Amino acid sequence: MDLPKTADVVIIGGGVVGCSIAYHLARRGARDVLVLERDAVGAGTTSKAAGGIRAQFPTEAEIRFSLEAIRVFERFEEEFGVDPGYRKIGYLFLISESEDLRGYESRVALQQSLGVDVRIIAPSEAKALVPALHVDDLIAAVWGPDDGMAGPAEVTNAFARRARELGARIVEGVDVTGIEIQGGRATAVVTASGTVGTRVVVNAAGPAAARVGRLAGVDLPVHPRRRHIFFTEPFPEIPGPVPLTTDRASGFYFRKEMEQVLLSPGDVEDVGDDFDVAVDRAKIGETVEKAIHRLPILEKARISGGWAGLRPLTPDDHAIIGWAPGVEGFFVAVGFGGHGFQHSPTTGRVVSEWLVDGAPSMDLSLFAPDRFARGQSAAHDTGPDAE
Ligand SMILES: Cc1cc2nc3c(=O)[nH]c(=O)nc-3n(C[C@H](O)[C@H](O)[C@H](O)COP(=O)(O)OP(=O)(O)OC[C@H]3O[C@@H](n4cnc5c(N)ncnc54)[C@H](O)[C@@H]3O)c2cc1C
Repeated sequence: MDLPKTADVVIIGGGVVGCSIAYHLARRGARDVLVLERDAVGAGTTSKAAGGIRAQFPTEAEIRFSLEAIRVFERFEEEFGVDPGYRKIGYLFLISESEDLRGYESRVALQQSLGVDVRIIAPSEAKALVPALHVDDLIAAVWGPDDGMAGPAEVTNAFARRARELGARIVEGVDVTGIEIQGGRATAVVTASGTVGTRVVVNAAGPAAARVGRLAGVDLPVHPRRRHIFFTEPFPEIPGPVPLTTDRASGFYFRKEMEQVLLSPGDVEDVGDDFDVAVDRAKIGETVEKAIHRLPILEKARISGGWAGLRPLTPDDHAIIGWAPGVEGFFVAVGFGGHGFQHSPTTGRVVSEWLVDGAPSMDLSLFAPDRFARGQSAAHDTGPDAE
């Protein structure tokens, strides 16, 4: 598709976030929406996600994001005509420190007050859920049976297809290299294939969000950090489905994917890149060590592959959503860390409300882009960040 000369809204980034925004904008009646994707739709960090979906978040805004997203995933096939592979496998957090448990107690109370089915259970109950677990060093676990998983590629492609059907244009293979500012307002995006004039530029560039922010002179504290996922050969000794289970002491997590077991060491590493990352095979040793501690039977398993991706982290682990300070017409929806996939349905809806109706229908102050400059950012969970 040729690059148009103008568009009402230009979204930079065709990942799950950009495609959800495009779909929701088009659904809300925006007629002239253009997504520019330097690679292919969904080829960015969305393609690396584990697909986890949980309502177990530490803040009301994020819990509400999850509850709405879960409702979307539940009727996804009805709305989009595509099976997203959604399954309620549950999320299980394994706890070994009393301070960590105290943090969970207050977060679980908040989640329950908002209607989430989540409870603190004994280690023996965790073992009943996943018999292969070693639980002797645990003091508790947290179980959310309504949490689950779905396929990031299926969901992203469904957003993109429906956005196109509703009139949005998505152009792949176009790298945005500049944002023109006139009189303090974003007026165009610059690419090697031409310039597109616009009223609104949306930064949905995932791990490249800070770089895209700089094109408009806006400083965004989005830090891409590498995380690995490895998978075993078919391993029927741990029968599925198993919950997405995170060991809070080590950050290690696992779940079943068909006959294989997916294993992540829970690594958070600055590799100095915001685009692509290589797999570090040295991470296999760390992963296997953490895995065998928690699931001794995995000693019999063989790793058959793996991948690494970049999670766009912020200093307080909350996303950044809103108008960028200092440049009119420049909107950001970035910094989703390990939860951008699962929060994409709600993100798309609230951003479309903001851009079409002038304001979102829910309180998004948690995600305010200027909170860091105002010294008002606060992390609500200091443990290892789950997906
Ligand atoms: C190992 C791992 C496991 C994860 N597990 C989960 C999980 O279980 N659940 C969950 O919810 N999330 C998970 N995540 C996080 C999730 O993948 C991200 O939060 C989410 O995909 C972010 O989506 P995005 O659209 O913002 O980014 P992306 O998918 O990266 O999309 C941004 C797009 O912008 C494009 N782009 C960048 N710069 C430009 C430019 N200048 N011009 C044009 N295009 C540009 C990129 O090519 C890219 O396609 C995981 C991440 C990793 C790495």
